Amino acid sequence: MIRVTFLGTGCMQPTKNRNHAGILLSYKNENILMDCGEGIQRQMRFAGVKPAKISKLLITHWHGDHVFGIPGLLSAMGADKADKTLKIYGPVGSKNYIEHMFKSFAAKEIIGHEVIEVTKGIFFESNEFILEVQPLKHSVHCIGFSFIEKDRRRIIVGTAEKLGLRGPILGKLQQGEDVIIDGKKIKSKDLTYRVIGKKISYISDTLPCDGADKLARDADLLISEGTHLDDIKEKTAKVMHLTVKQAALIASENNAKKLIITHISPRYKAPSEALAEAKIYFDNSKVAEDFMTIKI
Ligand SMILES: [Zn+2]
Ligand SMILES: [Zn+2]
Repeated sequence: MIRVTFLGTGCMQPTKNRNHAGILLSYKNENILMDCGEGIQRQMRFAGVKPAKISKLLITHWHGDHVFGIPGLLSAMGADKADKTLKIYGPVGSKNYIEHMFKSFAAKEIIGHEVIEVTKGIFFESNEFILEVQPLKHSVHCIGFSFIEKDRRRIIVGTAEKLGLRGPILGKLQQGEDVIIDGKKIKSKDLTYRVIGKKISYISDTLPCDGADKLARDADLLISEGTHLDDIKEKTAKVMHLTVKQAALIASENNAKKLIITHISPRYKAPSEALAEAKIYFDNSKVAEDFMTIKI
C-alpha cells in the first residue's frame, strides 16, 4: 500500500488552512517528501511524521513556497540523530542553492546530505519501485516526479496449500522461478498471479507541456497544481502555472485514474470552487486539503 499525505497545499502566502507545499509518499520503509515549503516541519509533527523517518527529499524547483522549509527539516533530522545521509534530488542548480542556504545562518546539527541534480528519466531504482523525473515549464528550472511501483507476483494461496507448498519454495515461485518437487515440475506461472504496480505522479508549477503529459500518463494517482480557475487563465499563463481546467484536461487526456488538485491560490476560500471546475473535465477529481491522506 502507498500512502500519500498532503502536508501543504497552498501557494504564494500560506493561509490559515493551507501551508506551503509538501507531499509525503510513504511506502514500506520509504518516506519520500516531495517539496518542503515553510512550515512543513510543523505540519509533519501535526501529522505524526517524525523528521528522522524521511528517506528521500525531492525538490521540484527553488521558488520559496517549495523550499523554505529545508533548513528546518534538515536541522530537525540532525538533532534527531537520524543515522543516514539524506539524498536530496532536485533540478539543475540545486547543489548551489543548498550550499548557500546552509551558509546563510549559524547552521548546526544539519543531517549529512547529498544533492543529486536530475533532469529526465529514471533516477532511482530498487527491487520494488522506480523514481522518474520529467522537465516542466515554469519561470525557473522545474521538474515533476513519478513514483512507479514495480509489478510483482503473488501466490495463489489455495492452490499452493493443496499442493502442500510452503517456505522458501513459495519465495522462489513468487520470484518467477519454476521448482521441481518429487520429480514433478511446478511452474511459477501456474501458482502465481501478477499484481500491476501503481504509478503516482506529482506535477508541480508549470504550463501545460510534454513533461506534464508524460507524468500523467496512466497514473493511478495524479497530483497536479491548479493555481487558479480558468476565468483568469491569461494571468495564470503569465505566471507560468496551470488552471484547474488545464490540470483536469491533462488528467483526462493522459488516462490518469484519479486527480488531486493542489497548490491552490489563497484567493479561493472554499475548495468547492476548484472542485466544480475540475469535475467538468475530469470526474474523478478531488481538491487537496492539508492533512488529507490517500491510500492507493
Ligand atoms: Zn509554487
Ligand atoms: Zn513556482
